[in-house]
Amino acid sequence: MKEEACIFCRIANGEIPSKTLYEDEKYRVILDLGPATRGHALILPKDHYKNLYELPEDACGEVMHLAKKMAVRMTGKLGCSGFNLVQNNGECAGQTVMHFHLHLIPRYEDDHQNINWVPGKPGQEELEEIRKTICGQP
Ligand code: AMP
Ligand code: ZN
Repeated sequence: MKEEACIFCRIANGEIPSKTLYEDEKYRVILDLGPATRGHALILPKDHYKNLYELPEDACGEVMHLAKKMAVRMTGKLGCSGFNLVQNNGECAGQTVMHFHLHLIPRYEDDHQNINWVPGKPGQEELEEIRKTICGQP
């Protein structure tokens, strides 16, 4: 399933050119046009899934396999020291393109990037209330 109006459908399926690092029948990995660091890439499924909620189970595994393969290859070639894998779901989470994608962000010792959050300080009671909300009792 592709969506005519979806830019990532069109890139993933080769209708719009991209700097492609990898391609197979189901996925394309491209360089991000607004990279956080040198080599920042995106894994795009060729089929249209809006986000993680819509991504089929088997694709979840395939995407993570591909992420590992690319991270190992890119680490060897780029000489980065680490990686962030980022996947935003929904506008409130920072998703701007509504076609599932996984960010592969190489990290370098002095890259001055900030892929962080401000840690909260929940007490044990609050953590337990959250755990129960998610898992039910007990
Ligand atoms: P997100 O905010 O998680 O939806 O990420 C969207 C990402 O797609 C951003 O990092 C953009 O820089 C990147 N992006 C948007 N349009 C293009 C494009 N045409 N080619 C490559 N990357 C793009
Ligand atoms: Zn799409």
